Amino acid sequence: MTSKFRVFVTCDIGPSIEVLRQRGYEVEVYEKPEAPPKGLIVEQVKSGIDGLITTLRDSIDSEIFEAGKGKLKVVAQIAVGFDNINRADANRYKIPFTNTADVLTEATAEFAFFMLGALARKMWTAEHLTRENKWGYWHPYLPFLGDEVTGKIVAIIGTGRIGLAMIKKCAGFDMNILCYDPAYQNHEYVKATQETMDLRHARGICRDQTWIRYVTLDEALAQADFVSVHVPLLREGESPTPTYHLFNESTLRRMKPTAFLVNTSRGPVVDEAELARALRENWIAGAALDVYEKEPLAKDSPLRDPAIADRCRLYPHVASAGRITRLAIDPAKGMAGRAVQGLIDVLEGNYGGDVTKMPYVVNKEAFEK
Ligand code: NAD
Repeated sequence: MTSKFRVFVTCDIGPSIEVLRQRGYEVEVYEKPEAPPKGLIVEQVKSGIDGLITTLRDSIDSEIFEAGKGKLKVVAQIAVGFDNINRADANRYKIPFTNTADVLTEATAEFAFFMLGALARKMWTAEHLTRENKWGYWHPYLPFLGDEVTGKIVAIIGTGRIGLAMIKKCAGFDMNILCYDPAYQNHEYVKATQETMDLRHARGICRDQTWIRYVTLDEALAQADFVSVHVPLLREGESPTPTYHLFNESTLRRMKPTAFLVNTSRGPVVDEAELARALRENWIAGAALDVYEKEPLAKDSPLRDPAIADRCRLYPHVASAGRITRLAIDPAKGMAGRAVQGLIDVLEGNYGGDVTKMPYVVNKEAFEK
């Protein structure tokens, strides 16, 4: 139905590819499970593709945009985070790029909550005990006790889409909630959450009154039993409040020795060497990570130290990896569907061809008149 656009996809994104093919697009997919070498992406772009569908594993910068000069029209990223795309370069070359915000919010938040629970209640250690036939008796406190989540204080670092969804999950578990975000505060959401908490208490659904409020980072770190991180990766110069190594020796030492850290944001937000030290030396009680400074996690990472295995949960960047969330064709439900729709919007000139009106385009500032 439309003119023939050429698209390269840097990994298989499932049935959404057919949506493009049915529209007459010529689509080439990199079929191997690992990321393609950058040279191959450059080659593809040089060969004159109109659109590129990328993941967070691909580094997209001036080398790519230069190779696509005059032909490449859009980069569609399957992820909400886009720290792999050099925004300033995209703007210089006037290439719009899209992301898949919103559709992965609930899946990511629920996984963050499950990580928090698995860590606190030592579910990994407990299952090992059973599987390895080390479960010899029922005892009031042996071989170990976990920490309840109910009634505890959680600090939400970054109250954007996923942070707010995490607040909703935590409120459902009768937790008290501290919020920290230097750039965006949703006081209406916090007020509504407090009203819900009040009602649950008043109607006898929740025995103890719970609360939620915005605080400073220092207060959040000092008071929280759990700290859950939901910020984008922002390096020096990209924001007045960068998040690179936001969790470092100083911030980790300001947490309670009984507190747990949960990170589903981006690996470089946490200084891994310092976190491993914090766990070895018991500055904090435990950590659960879904993301790493370098992915996949290195064989010799200090986080793999068997001495901290009982209090360090490690997951392979799967917080958004729900069946519907990752692959649904419907752009209102799936990352793949949303990436494809973002690409179609630009290539087919939807919204009157006005990039600033396209809902999935991130770098609208490059197109404002
Ligand atoms: P968002 O932009 O809606 O929210 C991020 C929030 O962080 C914003 O409100 C922002 O003001 C805040 N922030 C920025 N700098 C901060 C700082 N220094 N301290 C505290 N808060 C700060 O983004 P989102 O949709 O909620 O996603 C958040 C991030 O989660 C993404 O950028 C991505 O990196 C990560 N993510 C990971 C997975 C996964 O599979 N592990 C899945 C989805 C998203």
